[in-house]
Parts: sequence; C-alpha cells; structure tokens
Amino acid sequence: MGTRGRCALPGCNKPVSPSSPGRHGSHLTCGDLHHQLLMAGRFNPFSPNPNLHILDRNAAGFCALRSCHRPPCPGHPWCSRSHYMEWLFDFTSGLQPDQFCKLDGCTRHVFVEEEFTKREFCGKTHRDQYVTLSALRARLQLSSPSPTESLISSSGSAEGVCSA
Ligand SMILES: [Zn+2]
Ligand SMILES: [Zn+2]
Ligand SMILES: [Zn+2]
Repeated sequence: MGTRGRCALPGCNKPVSPSSPGRHGSHLTCGDLHHQLLMAGRFNPFSPNPNLHILDRNAAGFCALRSCHRPPCPGHPWCSRSHYMEWLFDFTSGLQPDQFCKLDGCTRHVFVEEEFTKREFCGKTHRDQYVTLSALRARLQLSSPSPTESLISSSGSAEGVCSA
C-alpha cells in the first residue's frame, strides 16, 4: 500500500506502473520504454540521458525522431507508431553489445543498479532462465542455437503510442 512513487527517468514525472503479480519488487518507471531509457542512462552516466533528447524535440514541437518535422501525437513523443519503431531501431542499434541481456534472443537492456553496478541480464527472471538453460544444455550436450538478430522483436513497449 502507500503512495506510488514517480518514474525514475530524468524528465518524467508520471507515477510508476503498478507491480504485477509474481513480480519481485516494484517498477522503477512509468513503463517499459522508460525502464530501457533509464538503464541506458545509468549505463553511460556521463552522457546525457537519451530521454533529454526526446524532451528537447517535443519541447520544440517536433516528433522525437530526429529526421521528422511533424508535431508529435498529443500525449506521445512521436507522431506515429512507425516513427516510434524507427526511433527504437536507431536507439537499439546505437547500444554496445554488453548493454544487451545475455539471454539468447533477448534484446532488452541489462539492468543497472542505482549506484551504477551493471548486471549481465535485463532482470532476475532472465538470469534465472539463463542459468536453467545452461544447466539443461550442459546436461543434454546440445549446442546453443544461433541468437536471434531481430533488434526490435521484444518491443511490447509500443502500446500507448498512438497508431495514427
Ligand atoms: Zn516515465
Ligand atoms: Zn515523426
Ligand atoms: Zn533479458
């Protein structure tokens, strides 16, 4: 119970998303995209948080995609879902390999603690899954399947961006 905190991403003041059943601990941000941006910001604490660029673009009246000169959709940083996807692709392809979760096929950013300790996985669930999979593979002596290269496959975060 008690009051919910505010999104930890610099520049965002929305309430954190409610924690779902079966999940350990509470969320740090208002949604999945802001979680990714927060982790990316903590990973590179000396570069400006990627969210600041989005806020700058929006404050100037533009969609957050650098090449776009249309106004953003009301209540959203992008003018359209396709520009959100394009932006997400740029953002994801700009990350270093060690910023990605170690679990095969996961394209989420690794978890970075508040005091900037970097983890190898996006969260506890994938760390546990990786350990289980490694143990299974060792037992069955299977070779690991080739990792998926799809960069934006795990973008369940697109909901909430208007699809005009
Ligand atoms: Zn937020
Ligand atoms: Zn746009
Ligand atoms: Zn993961």
